[in-house]
Amino acid sequence: MNAKVVVVGSLNMDLVARAQRLPRGGETLAGESFFTVPGGKGANQAVAAARLGASVAMVGNVGDDAYGQQLRRALEVEGIDCQGVGVCSGVSSGVALIVVDAASQNAIVIIPGGNGLLGPESVRRFDSLLQQAEVIICQLEVPTATVAWTLARGRELGKKVILNPAPASGPLPVEWFAHIDYLIPNESEAEALAGLPVNDLDSARRAGRRLRKMGAGKVIVTLGAQGALLVDDGEGRHFPAPEVEAVDTTAAGDTFVGGFAAGLARGLPEEQAIIVGQRAAALSVTRAGAQPSIPYLRELTP
Ligand code: ADP
Repeated sequence: MNAKVVVVGSLNMDLVARAQRLPRGGETLAGESFFTVPGGKGANQAVAAARLGASVAMVGNVGDDAYGQQLRRALEVEGIDCQGVGVCSGVSSGVALIVVDAASQNAIVIIPGGNGLLGPESVRRFDSLLQQAEVIICQLEVPTATVAWTLARGRELGKKVILNPAPASGPLPVEWFAHIDYLIPNESEAEALAGLPVNDLDSARRAGRRLRKMGAGKVIVTLGAQGALLVDDGEGRHFPAPEVEAVDTTAAGDTFVGGFAAGLARGLPEEQAIIVGQRAAALSVTRAGAQPSIPYLRELTP
């Protein structure tokens, strides 16, 4: 199988505890429930692309522990090629410790574990996957040097290169932009990258235009329940989100990115691919958890 979408990124196990309220420093609190869910932005986007119709390969790292085996298995059952998922000895798998209170506020600690050891050479080893791909996706939960190398290599190979700059809290290295076909930030990431406030369509458009001036090909700013804004060299286009009852927005952005990439890989025009991403993301927010909430293509209304 030739993977059309290759994701270079993180795999995390989400450890989720629910409690009435978040604990204060030094406090021990009795909670209500606990569960583990496979997540990590890279793995979520790989799962979304696979469920939404693409053949997918993942390049990443897990630790030499039970979570690592579960994370890999969660991708394999989706038919994702995991030859590029390495096992690092002496570190844990990536984990996200999440406490959610009764008002759905959360506090999160992320331990990168194996994700932090994904060097450029780990991706170079799977260059044949990049060569076969049509679409390459990166996020920012693995080392910066690895993202930089992958974006440049993707450009060199003439692939469609997507960067979901998450999590971003400041500007990106300026030399990255020329390698990116689609930069897909959410509002706060667009704000951090462009250095402009983003809180509505007009400000998102301004930020998108600034990011294009820095060298990004096209920019798609995701705006939560407000949908998504495509900023290109023309007028751009706003895609309003389907109206749904949101219960958990975890992985909404990841579902959008994976669905969009799968649409491109299936040969859809870009605007249709955005609509696939949006419909899938809207469904995902009606369900709990990261990977379990991501829908399959057959669930999307035509
Ligand atoms: P992130 O999860 O990265 O913060 P967003 O919140 O912008 O990203 O959500 C990504 C996409 O998911 C949006 O562009 C939209 O298509 C969809 N989405 C998110 N929240 C909702 C919602 N409440 N109703 C419908 N669609 C939503």
